[in-house]
Amino acid sequence: MVNSMMQGTPIFILKEGTERERGKGAVYNNIAAARAVADAVRSTLGPRGMDKMLVDSMGDITITNDGVTILKEMDIEHPAAKMLVEVAKTQDQQCGDGTTTAVVLAGELLKRSEALLEQNIHPTVVTRGFQRALVEALRLLEKEIGTTVKPDDDAILIDCARTAMGSKGVVGSRDMLAQIVVSAVRKISEKRGDKQLADVDQIKLEKRHGGTIGDTELIDGIILDKERGHPRMPREVRGAKIALMNSALEVKKTEIESKINITNPTQIQGFLDEEDRNFRRMVEAVKASGADVLICQKGIDDVVLHYLAKEGILAIKQVKESDLQKLARATGAKIVTGLKELSANDLGKAERVEEKKVGDDHMTYVTGCSNPRSVSILIRGGTEHVTQEVERSLQDALKVVSSVIEDGVVCPGGGATEIDLAVKLRRYAPTVGGREQLAVEAFAQSLEAVPWALAENGGFDFINTLIELRGAHTGDAASRNIGVDMANGKTADMWKMKVVEPLRVKHQALSSAVEVASMVLRIDDVIASKKTSGGAPGGPGGGHDH
Ligand code: ADP
Ligand code: MG
Repeated sequence: MVNSMMQGTPIFILKEGTERERGKGAVYNNIAAARAVADAVRSTLGPRGMDKMLVDSMGDITITNDGVTILKEMDIEHPAAKMLVEVAKTQDQQCGDGTTTAVVLAGELLKRSEALLEQNIHPTVVTRGFQRALVEALRLLEKEIGTTVKPDDDAILIDCARTAMGSKGVVGSRDMLAQIVVSAVRKISEKRGDKQLADVDQIKLEKRHGGTIGDTELIDGIILDKERGHPRMPREVRGAKIALMNSALEVKKTEIESKINITNPTQIQGFLDEEDRNFRRMVEAVKASGADVLICQKGIDDVVLHYLAKEGILAIKQVKESDLQKLARATGAKIVTGLKELSANDLGKAERVEEKKVGDDHMTYVTGCSNPRSVSILIRGGTEHVTQEVERSLQDALKVVSSVIEDGVVCPGGGATEIDLAVKLRRYAPTVGGREQLAVEAFAQSLEAVPWALAENGGFDFINTLIELRGAHTGDAASRNIGVDMANGKTADMWKMKVVEPLRVKHQALSSAVEVASMVLRIDDVIASKKTSGGAPGGPGGGHDH
């Protein structure tokens, strides 16, 4: 765009309209954006945290206390802020719980870094210091704070599940839900080699509003959000032999519009007869395989349903693919793509397939499956918003319990772990020396954001709580369980209060908080291309209004 070779003429290497911010300004700007995200979720942390009501562009409402859900629903634009959202997502995938904690920690690390940058400490020194503090913190977690528990210790598992659900709007039914969570994870956990595995994706969550949270139940098998395809089909089949299909039982519609020239009425009849014969052949094939239950991912023609009903076969159509896969695993059936392939060998078994009425709807229960590791939880609750929040709480708790079963290590909650790490890292800092020492101290201080936010959200004098906590953590084994007592803002032994969390949650939260904080700190140049959508043609992307 610039042809001149004259001296002093700027050389443009970027497209017109590109916005660029360099140096400290860029860092401070990114820090501010990331902190804004952390501040947005901070008030939801802990059992006394508040909920957020999120309204999307379609007007749909979500009410939640779940960090990752809030951030996912918020329409975040700023690139650095988006990085914090990623932290929450990673935490959610890895641990299910601790999403708010991870984001609050990342925000706090950045806040403390800002002060260090102002003292002219280079960002690389800060990130190196954070890295050293992290290594020491993870070592302390493993060696001094984590407690090994037996994976078959139900009492501990229930405490972990209760703690995970403690901050959600399900507190009243927590004990009963914790029991369901632990039983469900127990069902699906298995020993492989000398390792205990618990893949919670095997637990199917289904929700129906109506009733109360207390009606939520654990079902030994798979529940489908579907009813039988025809009212004359049996409502219940015992000793079911189940066929699973992933293609439609319909007359194929051709891609090209085809025309049939019919010149006399007998041809119409012939045509219809042919179609009918096709449908009958489909039903014959199902019957020949010996199946008495047919579950299909796609549609089934009404005529086929009618004939299936006549044969006493229970058929269900339009079942989700993921459900079909769960059914395959649970019943031992093989999913077939066409009726031609279907044989007796492909059928799965269940003691009972039964349609039941739940609230105003009908659902199908497939129970007594040949694989005992298949369970579902049917979530109930007064409104859709309630069942959704129960689902989110259960997802957190299921993951938490499975990580305790898999790792066998827990640590105290209620800010105890964080304050203990802070106290110990402050003692460690001088051994690091140099300017990095300051970053280690900043790291220690950042950890205190967790008990701080817990106390603040509880409406207590958080300064007092923090001072008490610091004093209580003397470094000996007994003191490391002291955290915030959410009943009065004083300090208490979290182990005795049964507030425990998997070590994995803390480990991941610290690691990803440091990772993202370091990433944000290392950016000193933000080059943003002009937006292609929406902007006025030729106009600068809104950056010239001041
Ligand atoms: P996250 O998304 O990080 O899991 P939560 O809102 O679930 O955020 O809050 C988790 C924090 O609340 C943890 O630090 C946990 O130890 C603490 N917590 C949960 N239950 C209690 C309790 N009964 N007393 C004190 N702290 C609790
Ligand atoms: Mg939580």
